[in-house]
Amino acid sequence: MVGDTSGGDDGPVGIRDPILMSDEQLMQLANDVREKAYAPYSNFKVGAALLCADGSVITGINIESATFTPSICAERTAFFKAISEGHRDFVKIAVTCDKAYCSPCGVCRQVMVEHAPNLEILLGNPSGTFKRMTIKELLPESFSLRDDGECESCS
Ligand SMILES: [Zn+2]
Repeated sequence: MVGDTSGGDDGPVGIRDPILMSDEQLMQLANDVREKAYAPYSNFKVGAALLCADGSVITGINIESATFTPSICAERTAFFKAISEGHRDFVKIAVTCDKAYCSPCGVCRQVMVEHAPNLEILLGNPSGTFKRMTIKELLPESFSLRDDGECESCS
C-alpha cells in the first residue's frame, strides 16, 4: 500500500513509499552535478537529476568526445545509469544548462518516452528558475514497436 512504510523497503521499485523531494531540490541536484559535465569542446555544460519512484535520484552530465559522435547528453547518462542499476520506474527529471532552459534533444526524448511514458520534466538553469513539461508534450506520437503504440515498460 502506498504510504505504508511498515513493511520495510524490500519491495520492488515503485511499491515502496516514494520519498518525493521538492522540484527545487531536484533542480539543485541537477545544478550541482552540472559542474562535473565533461564539455571541453562546446563548453556547454548540462546536468540532469532523475527521480525514481522509490525516491532514488540518479544524476547525469553531458560527456563529449573529440570525435563528437560518441558524445552523450546528461539526460541519457542519467537514464542509462539508472536502468543499469535496476531502476525501471521514473517520476521526473530535472535538466539544467546555461540558457533560460534546456530542452532535451530528440534522441533523449525517445529514450525518455520509452522508459518513462508519464515523465515530468523540469527545464531550468543555475538561477533556479524552471518550467514544467511532460514527455508527452515534448514528444507526441512517439515511435514504438508495439501495435498499440505503448512502450514495453508501460504495461
Ligand atoms: Zn539529448
